[in-house]
Amino acid sequence: MICSIYFQILSLVYMLLLMIVVFSKKRLKSIENSLFVSLIFINLTGLILDISSTYLAYVDINNKFLNPLCKVYLVYLICTCLVFTVYVIFVSMINKDALIEIKKRIVKNMLIVITIIFVLLTVIIFLIPLYNISESGIIYTTGPGANLTYAIVGVCTLIWIISLLINYKNIRDKKYLPIFVLIICIIFATILQRINPELLIVTSMCCFIVYIMYFTIENPDVKMLNELNLAKDQAEKANNSKTEFLSSMSHEIRTPLNAIVGLSQVLLEKDLPSDSKEDIEDIVMASDTLLGIVNGILDISKIEANKLEILYTEYHPKKIIDELIVLTKARMGEKSLDFRTYFDSAIPDYLYGDSSRVKQIILNILTNSVKYTKEGFIDFRISVIIKDNICRLIISVEDSGVGIKEEDINKLFKKFERLNEGGTTSIEGTGLGLAITKKLVEMMGGKIFVQSIFGKGSKFTVVLDQKIVNKTFKKEESDYTEVIQSVDFSDKKVLVVDDNTLNLKVAQRLLTTYGMQVDIIESGFGLIEKIEAGEVYDLILLDDMMPKLSGTEALKKLRTSPNFKIPTIAMTANAIEGMREKYLSDGFDDYLAKPIDKKELNRVIIKYLYSK
Ligand code: ADP
Repeated sequence: MICSIYFQILSLVYMLLLMIVVFSKKRLKSIENSLFVSLIFINLTGLILDISSTYLAYVDINNKFLNPLCKVYLVYLICTCLVFTVYVIFVSMINKDALIEIKKRIVKNMLIVITIIFVLLTVIIFLIPLYNISESGIIYTTGPGANLTYAIVGVCTLIWIISLLINYKNIRDKKYLPIFVLIICIIFATILQRINPELLIVTSMCCFIVYIMYFTIENPDVKMLNELNLAKDQAEKANNSKTEFLSSMSHEIRTPLNAIVGLSQVLLEKDLPSDSKEDIEDIVMASDTLLGIVNGILDISKIEANKLEILYTEYHPKKIIDELIVLTKARMGEKSLDFRTYFDSAIPDYLYGDSSRVKQIILNILTNSVKYTKEGFIDFRISVIIKDNICRLIISVEDSGVGIKEEDINKLFKKFERLNEGGTTSIEGTGLGLAITKKLVEMMGGKIFVQSIFGKGSKFTVVLDQKIVNKTFKKEESDYTEVIQSVDFSDKKVLVVDDNTLNLKVAQRLLTTYGMQVDIIESGFGLIEKIEAGEVYDLILLDDMMPKLSGTEALKKLRTSPNFKIPTIAMTANAIEGMREKYLSDGFDDYLAKPIDKKELNRVIIKYLYSK
């Protein structure tokens, strides 16, 4: 007889099960969640009403409670539609944390308006007639009350669709697409019910919709995960902006530092009283240290932003070792330390790897040994194990310095972590060196170990695998300084382009020491004007990062003219590895990092001005 009642009973069982699941889980206290929970309760009430009214109708169509019960059921349908309307409008609003309070206020006001509408509609439903009809065994409800309910469902559906279409982007971001499916289900059920009033599937369809919502968009686990991801994203964003700030700060610091290093280098070459010379040497040393710190911050920010790349090229390890010895000895200065070295004769002539990073790693542990050893020795060893075409470098630096306490060894590689053993914090440092070193070693697939006895000394060992390049060493080009001194550059004309006047001054000073003619200009536009006016130069040093027209853009414009053949060198404080390759592919002939290194400048000058 009343087969459709089984449908509702089954839906009721499912609804109760869903309630158990929803309430046994930890939920987030969000507006969507509260609206969803109220939808569950409303649906449950609806099912009870539906079952009882259907049952009553089949038992006795003239029962005096049937009509009011059916009217309460219609009120339930209206209530479901209104709450779902608030839900849809809410989820389709922009999902920004800053707007959450405004959204809450809007929802509050909406709920007030909807409650008023609901009360009004309830009164109307109870005032207008509703008929329960039995026709050849089929019982259904009709009349103005039923029609009004259909009309309200229609209006609400329209509101949902408009609201979703207007805010399609927000919905898409939040993966609320299932709502579209739900709306289609509601429209489908309403039309079906209207055509076959005896079907009674609306309540079960509402139950089905609540189910779909639970398994798609309102699942507490998914919500919790989304919320966690959101929090993670925010934390990452905050960390990224800190990293960006650090790297832009370091970049900004490099520019004035460039001036200090460059100008003091120029001064060093002048005939000055010995005490002034000493002062300038101190300035050079201090600015070198500062440059090291800035580079460290740049490195760590790049590592954190996953932007640090290992650049593989062929290199001559013995050259690096020589440079490391010179730098360490210079660092030891007045300290009377016994600097012992041992290098395996089997170290290949050429290896394939990131030479500057390998040098940075070793230099860091060597510098630390010098810093933290007052007297005694420093033992620098490199031994190798060769297997097939791989050379395992075992680099160790042992010292008789202050040593490290056992419990502090784990802290060593954390950034900004400095230990205060034997009052070492008076020694300059940032606590970044070993953090960077460890990251670099790991990025190259190597390992770093520490052994230390507090008060006796430490031993740092780095193990790195590098590919062997089968090539024998040829003596490199002759020393630039000698060539430079013997060449007359007075007929050479160089143009320097930089938006920073201090940088221009430094470059001009450095270049005039070679005896050449130097012109300066402050913008890429000025450069183009000069060249178009027919000025001829033997070399252009062009800064890249200039406002309005960057060096790269200016060069691109110049290169459009086939007559432009002047060698152009990129100059930038953006001294990231890989920049050379980038600038060469952008059309530059060579690359100079700022602060300009005298040796590098010698190389460029010889390469582009000597052969002429
Ligand atoms: P810092 O710039 O402070 O030297 P590092 O990251 O290079 O930063 O080193 C971290 C800390 O590890 C240092 O502050 C120092 O306390 C300790 N340390 C590093 N190398 C040695 C060493 N060879 N002997 C003793 N202590 C060391």
